[in-house]
Amino acid sequence: MPAAPLLQVRDLAKRFPIRGGLLQRVVDQVHAVDGVSFELAAGETLGVVGESGCGKSTTGRCILRLIEPTEGQVLFEGKDVTGADKQALRALARDMQIIFQDPYASLNPRMTVGAIIGEALTIHKLAPTRAAYEARIVELLETVGLAADHMRRYPHEFSGGQRQRIGIARALAVSPKLVVCDEAVSALDVSIQAQVINLLEDLQEKFDLTYIFIAHDLSVVEHISDRVAVMYLGRIVEIAPARELYSNPRHPYTEALLSAVPIPDPKVKRERIHLQGDVPSPIRPPPGCHFHTRCPIAQKGLCDVQRPELKTVGEGHQVSCHLRS
Ligand code: SF4
Repeated sequence: MPAAPLLQVRDLAKRFPIRGGLLQRVVDQVHAVDGVSFELAAGETLGVVGESGCGKSTTGRCILRLIEPTEGQVLFEGKDVTGADKQALRALARDMQIIFQDPYASLNPRMTVGAIIGEALTIHKLAPTRAAYEARIVELLETVGLAADHMRRYPHEFSGGQRQRIGIARALAVSPKLVVCDEAVSALDVSIQAQVINLLEDLQEKFDLTYIFIAHDLSVVEHISDRVAVMYLGRIVEIAPARELYSNPRHPYTEALLSAVPIPDPKVKRERIHLQGDVPSPIRPPPGCHFHTRCPIAQKGLCDVQRPELKTVGEGHQVSCHLRS
């Protein structure tokens, strides 16, 4: 019998109210996440990709309840995260952690690195003595490739890559099972990106971690992901095992994203697909298939009217498109 999934996300939706007028009434809504469902097995890495504003970071934060979802359900090891009260959520926070995009903004400049990493140890009462607290911080620093004496320094004394390592150590302090890497390498130079991705892979093996790895670029998630979900305007439009998605994309949006990924072999040429226009506003997303205003093969009377469901087109491969099977 296959093992139960570590994480189950069912019909997750998040709408942000827009208030206006003298009375600050709700006048509209931003449809940030619009019916996202997927499962994640223990030890797996799901890459989540899409342009800015597609809802990928909001999805990650709703899963951890850093943002309250409007609808849907999240189950972690069968436990209901969406319905959890404060106490249950605090316990779940030990199992589910996040690494933020901006290593400059996400670390408090007035705290030492040791205090930043040790904060969660104190909150969750994981270090009974001062000596145990310091020993754990040293262990975490060394685990992410930093040195013991870094604990007494401040974030501004470190490079971007080193700061992201501090962010990783902070996330690991409570020995989580699931880590949401929210654009964790997007702000770093390409060579540093590769180092941090390699570190995350090593840590995954060492600590049996499960990752949701969010990025706006398919080339960034290729190496680390077991499966990849492509999002557009709050919905998953395609999800598949990584190798399958890169070699056999079915959704026109995935094809366009993939056409922008450089191929290392100069003999292989890939034609770039340029999408027309910008991503429409999530305040009033287009009816039917959200992608129809930019899709090169959209069919009038169908794509602009009917929402395509996610349908299975291969082993673990699902696509949301009326014309692709
Ligand atoms: Fe394009 Fe229609 Fe498929 Fe949407 S459903 S991706 S508009 S062909």
